[in-house]
Amino acid sequence: MVLERGEIANSWRRERWDSLRLLTPNWQSRLPGYHYEGAEPDGYMTMREVIDFISRFAVLSGVPVRTHTTVTSVKRTDAGYDVATTNGDLRCRTIVVASGACNVPSVPSLWQSVPRSIQCVTPFDYRNPDHLPEGGVLIVGASATGVQLADEIVRSGRSVTLSVGEHVRLPRTYRGRDVLWWMDASGVWNQRHNEIDDLTRVRRLPSPQLIGSPQRTTLDLNALSSAGVEMVGRLAAVRDGQALFSGGLRNQFALADLKMNRLLGTFDEWARSRAREADVGPPERFEPTRVPATSRLKLDLRSGEVRSIVWATGFRPDYSWLDVPVIDDKGHLRHEGGVVDAPGLYALGLPVLRRRKSTFIHGAEDDAREVVDHLAEYLTTLVKGRS
Ligand SMILES: Cc1cc2nc3c(=O)[nH]c(=O)nc-3n(C[C@H](O)[C@H](O)[C@H](O)COP(=O)(O)OP(=O)(O)OC[C@H]3O[C@@H](n4cnc5c(N)ncnc54)[C@H](O)[C@@H]3O)c2cc1C
Repeated sequence: MVLERGEIANSWRRERWDSLRLLTPNWQSRLPGYHYEGAEPDGYMTMREVIDFISRFAVLSGVPVRTHTTVTSVKRTDAGYDVATTNGDLRCRTIVVASGACNVPSVPSLWQSVPRSIQCVTPFDYRNPDHLPEGGVLIVGASATGVQLADEIVRSGRSVTLSVGEHVRLPRTYRGRDVLWWMDASGVWNQRHNEIDDLTRVRRLPSPQLIGSPQRTTLDLNALSSAGVEMVGRLAAVRDGQALFSGGLRNQFALADLKMNRLLGTFDEWARSRAREADVGPPERFEPTRVPATSRLKLDLRSGEVRSIVWATGFRPDYSWLDVPVIDDKGHLRHEGGVVDAPGLYALGLPVLRRRKSTFIHGAEDDAREVVDHLAEYLTTLVKGRS
């Protein structure tokens, strides 16, 4: 039984902005026994297409889904778990927590010091530039969400200031192929969680600066600078109506360029060692991220220059309904490859759950197979224990 508080594909229906397209190409939209079969395998789905894609899978898979049923509490019992919902209570031996990794926008507490004259918006509230108040916009965060919104808002004719912290730079295409083709083909995306040295850090890495657009454009900081976006450093504090930015732009840019070039080097090495050179174009290197001649360290939020702040500072899961002591002090589920630290409790859909690709739609299948194998074995052991 699948319990869903809203409708099927709820997060794509309710929590995304109007212009969003997947940043993963259509051929990568794969679920067990089901994949994209349209005419544009290299295109990127609109939200309507994602909703249709997932809804069709729900019908074809025949899985019993109970929609408009919010799980309000899960408690452990001797026999398994008691599940309270807005639509009646249930008992079960095992649970897979597949409630998502991005339930709530993660906004730093310094937003509370922002003057009231500024409208604060999260990606969950944002739909399109028309919904922002007239005037300049400060966007905090330059990962996938931040760069996409900066691009859209600056093109709507507003002045945009982008506060840039740690980020992951990627070109949309490399040597003639989508960069996510390289991640897949070279095996980078299949790297398993137990082969990664600093798993905790990798699980918290920001999303790559990518956009899915019909033109397959690269949306890096150079593209945004050219479009007129002003870059400032990481937002460090808001004090006496002033937004204060760190001065580390040059280092942030250099680090992101270095990591991107290292990854491109890995792709080159893979193509060479697997004799795939003929399938791809010649190696490319990209212009380093341009450091502005000067970058402001302060922005007076009372001056009227900026009228709204978009907090593109990431998302976090919400486990307020899970009354089982399996959440760490950072609010993350304690698990080993989706096997949660409580008998019969499992998880799917979390960053680098079992592989680097786990965060993505196409990452679910391999993870689900292994997690369900463990779950089935657990149930078998329970049955044997009773007989
Ligand atoms: C802005 C954004 C863009 C993204 N772009 C891409 C992309 O281009 N390609 C890609 O592959 N991935 C992308 N992702 C990641 C994407 O969210 C995941 O790949 C995929 O949605 C994970 O599916 P899921 O079912 O695990 O989680 P979700 O889609 O979050 O689904 C979880 C479901 O659980 C329900 N739920 C939560 N709590 C409860 C409760 N207490 N009771 C009942 N139901 C509950 C929610 O309503 C929701 O429908 C993006 C994520 C975000 C935030």
